[in-house]
Amino acid sequence: MPCPDGQVPLAPLLGPVSDWGNIHPYQPKRLYAPAHPNALQQIVSAVIDGEASGGKMKAKGSNYSLSGAQVTDDFLISTDGLNMHLSQPHPVMIGGDGIALLLDASRVANPSYGDDLLQKIVRPGLVLPPGNHLIHVEAGIKIKQLLADLASVNLALPTMGAGGGQSLAGALSTGTHGSDVQLSPLGDFVRAVHIVGPKGQEWWITPADNIVGGPNLDALPGWCPDTWVVRDDDWFRAALLTVGRFGVVYSMILEVPEQYHLLETTNMSPGSSAGMQHILWSDTRAQLHASVNQGYDSGGVFDAPHQGEPLRFFSVLIDLAEGEQCWITRRWKTDDQSEIGISSDPTTDDILCSSNPVMVDLVIAATAVFQFLGGEDLAVPVVGLVWASAVAELHTELLVMAANSETVADFLAKAFAKIASLTTELYGPVAPQLQSLIKRLGAVLLRGSQTDTRQGASHRILDTHDYNRDGCSSGNSSEFFFDAQTQNYLLFIDAVLNKAQELSPVPGYIALRFIRGSKALLAMERFPLTVAIEIAVPRSLSEDNFPAFMSAMRDLAMQHGGIPHWGQEHKLNPSQTEALYADGIDSWRWALAEMEGDGPQTFSSKFCVDRGLMATGTIDDFRAQRPGGALDSLIMMLMS
Ligand SMILES: Cc1cc2nc3c(=O)[nH]c(=O)nc-3n(C[C@H](O)[C@H](O)[C@H](O)COP(=O)(O)OP(=O)(O)OC[C@H]3O[C@@H](n4cnc5c(N)ncnc54)[C@H](O)[C@@H]3O)c2cc1C
Repeated sequence: MPCPDGQVPLAPLLGPVSDWGNIHPYQPKRLYAPAHPNALQQIVSAVIDGEASGGKMKAKGSNYSLSGAQVTDDFLISTDGLNMHLSQPHPVMIGGDGIALLLDASRVANPSYGDDLLQKIVRPGLVLPPGNHLIHVEAGIKIKQLLADLASVNLALPTMGAGGGQSLAGALSTGTHGSDVQLSPLGDFVRAVHIVGPKGQEWWITPADNIVGGPNLDALPGWCPDTWVVRDDDWFRAALLTVGRFGVVYSMILEVPEQYHLLETTNMSPGSSAGMQHILWSDTRAQLHASVNQGYDSGGVFDAPHQGEPLRFFSVLIDLAEGEQCWITRRWKTDDQSEIGISSDPTTDDILCSSNPVMVDLVIAATAVFQFLGGEDLAVPVVGLVWASAVAELHTELLVMAANSETVADFLAKAFAKIASLTTELYGPVAPQLQSLIKRLGAVLLRGSQTDTRQGASHRILDTHDYNRDGCSSGNSSEFFFDAQTQNYLLFIDAVLNKAQELSPVPGYIALRFIRGSKALLAMERFPLTVAIEIAVPRSLSEDNFPAFMSAMRDLAMQHGGIPHWGQEHKLNPSQTEALYADGIDSWRWALAEMEGDGPQTFSSKFCVDRGLMATGTIDDFRAQRPGGALDSLIMMLMS
């Protein structure tokens, strides 16, 4: 029997729901917003209520997925209210076969969203011993909040994506990663997952050599006595990355390290006073090529220790428009606890976020420039007249565009695309002149987003997201994962850069990030050393501006064997999913079948169906194919 709350957490629908980039705005039919004090039971109530109405459901975190993974067919469950720590941090006991975790957990009386959330539940006077700790935390917590909470008790995240705006479950449900070259993504630091599945059934899922949750689990606050406890490696590896398909992840146990400090440099050696160097992609490509052949560690690009610390992080950013300049960012652990290059006060006057009058004024101010350019065209007999009039029309068009744009970033995306489409035939020499201006502007914007040196506590370095730009700018972004030990990814980049030149100018960037393989069955990080290649172009707040390039680039990625990120723009069909995840999809589907039973496929959605994230047989079919067959040995139902 599930354990619902007496109350269904229905919330008012205040208009369409959209993702970070405003790429998939849509109107859910119903919104549930479970909140404390009985958030877990309210999720159960929401699921039962939604199923009774015959609707499909989906949990959403921060809606940062550009893929539409979080779009529900019917009802949406917001996890914003799930931001509590459920235990004090518990030291990991190496060699122990179980942990009396969580027994002194206490609910926070006032679950307001404050920085000291974790401290409120740490026993007064408790000093955490050195070493890794297990934390039990609700899965809707935003990563930036988690970073702050952990820092307040001298703990940290081992690794993460580049930003902290995502929710923990949302990030892990799509395989989010950073570029810590010796580490697997954050999902691999999960030790247990608590999910509310179809019919409101609760599941506590751990690996077979479970280190958390022995017979003491039923002492957890709000524990439902009929929770199914699963200790199985495949099932656990399936539950780590589900794209929301298994149900609502309520909480997770994560293994986290003590706080550490990081030194970061971009295009320079640590301690150099020479400042940022100009680095060419062709040179970096040659180094990567050599690393593929000879290994990345010894003599390769990762062989760059600093003060006895091995290189921890390595990423490359390439200017897409020119295809020449690149920026290499490296990080090392450091004992130096001083802060360098970190602004305490985020800028709020970002020009890109200014509203459209700024651009209208600028375009008006550029009248003389357009007249000059038109005048140059006029110097060419006959056809020059046609060109000059097209240039004058372009100026008017840009003025209207500026007036109809919400922000400067919104306008620039549209203006870049418009100028990229100009032809010499219609606009004369003005077309290549304006296009080369865009190329240079793109490089300047990329250059401006780099800092030569940063140093500080890990949470100050790991989260690089510019929160001020949320809602004011957007981008189309796809990311593909390759085996870093083959040349394919370099050939893919060559092909993308060629395509960008063919359709030139295409402003934007290509980012390369390296991670170790993940154990999650559907993780894109499938290779012992995986390289993730993200290609991003500007997008206005209302439309794709470089669709031809993005479409051609996606085709190139598939031709080169790239695996798309579940949380970035994503186009797989079921047979492609089966081919790319041949060694994981069957077990993933088996775990799904076990949780869905023969009941409604509550957490399915068009996104999932289109990509084959479905159980494609009955439970008996799946069990018959599995060694060990019967499931009962894997599951223990705890009796209170
Ligand atoms: C600005 C920006 C920066 C990014 N940086 C990176 C990066 O550095 N590295 C990287 O790998 N990716 C990055 N991404 C992609 C991003 O990390 C993923 O799309 C991530 O899934 C978003 O997390 P979210 O909380 O917004 O989840 P959502 O977008 O809300 O949901 C994503 C998926 O998770 C599911 N889900 C969410 N919460 C739950 C829950 N509690 N239980 C079950 N399922 C749930 C949803 O159903 C959906 O399928 C970035 C995206 C943006 C917009």
